[in-house]
Amino acid sequence: MKQDIDWSKLGFKYHTTDIRYISNYKNGSWDEGQLSTNSNVTINESAGVLQYAQTCFEGLKAYTTKDNKIVCFRPDLNAARMEESCKRLEMPVFNKERFVNAVKEVVKANASWVPPYGYGASLYIRPYMFASGAVIGVKPADEYQFRIFTTPVGPYFQGGAKPIVIRISDFDRAAPNGTGHIKAGLNYAMSLHAIVDAHNQGFAENMYLDSKTRTKVEETGGANFIFVTQDNKVITPKSSSILPSITRRSLLYVAEHYLNLKVEEREIYKEELKDFKECALCGTAAVLSPVGKINDHGKEISFPSGMENMGEITKKLYDTLVGIQLGEIEAPKGWIEVIL
Ligand SMILES: *Cc1c(COP(=O)(O)O)cnc(C)c1O
Repeated sequence: MKQDIDWSKLGFKYHTTDIRYISNYKNGSWDEGQLSTNSNVTINESAGVLQYAQTCFEGLKAYTTKDNKIVCFRPDLNAARMEESCKRLEMPVFNKERFVNAVKEVVKANASWVPPYGYGASLYIRPYMFASGAVIGVKPADEYQFRIFTTPVGPYFQGGAKPIVIRISDFDRAAPNGTGHIKAGLNYAMSLHAIVDAHNQGFAENMYLDSKTRTKVEETGGANFIFVTQDNKVITPKSSSILPSITRRSLLYVAEHYLNLKVEEREIYKEELKDFKECALCGTAAVLSPVGKINDHGKEISFPSGMENMGEITKKLYDTLVGIQLGEIEAPKGWIEVIL
């Protein structure tokens, strides 16, 4: 039995569901983990996460496919990425196989919350880990908690994806040898001011440049970029301070193997932006959001795809990837994890 909710009216916001997964790390090892009905976390006032922001997270979605299966998309890559985040933050790694099994377990337990096929909605899955042990001197804590909760979400853009206007930011997101490549809460904490400021100025997002030379495109606060060149090549910035988006990696594969387009990951200079045909942001939440204009300190760069619709290649990429996720188009081997 599904929950009695209007699936067509879900926004992108937190909604408590029945069950979450919890595992605790203590005395050098993880316990066996359990499901819980308690949506609150109780921790010491001096927990490492509260004092020194020792926490990281992941984000993925479960969907109902065309043939009525509940699946999720490439959870093994989220598990691997979280391992990288944990290592960089001196947190204990949660075994990748256990991660995927825990995702499946918690989605199964919340099956009534997985939106049915056809609404563009999904069950957003949020795995995360934080230092629960008390610290006061600056050092890694010795106790941690790994949790996964789920929350039903509607399509990121109600009524379809309209192109957005973004600005080139004077704030930096990541230092050259910093933490830009991991999914750490701290990257988001310090991006909040920049995004609030962008919104106040009428922009949907910030385009961050590399903080060392401020000449190369990096990403936004929560999504990677893809661009389409005049000769229909799909390109994406290469940098060690970009978060390796699973959506972006999947889109590049789709471009190459499903759409027969040339793809390239390379350094992309701000000066090149005016030459591109299409620009879009990619990430789990929206899959792809088309960018119509980039504001560079008052100077506008407008893409030929315009402010009404997704660019032609962006649309093909979007339709193909979403088709794969919803079981309408055959997926590459290993991309779809069937849960129920
Ligand atoms: C999560 C995230 C993305 C998108 O990654 P996906 O795996 O595609 O969801 C991009 N940039 C940043 C900074 C992120 O935190």
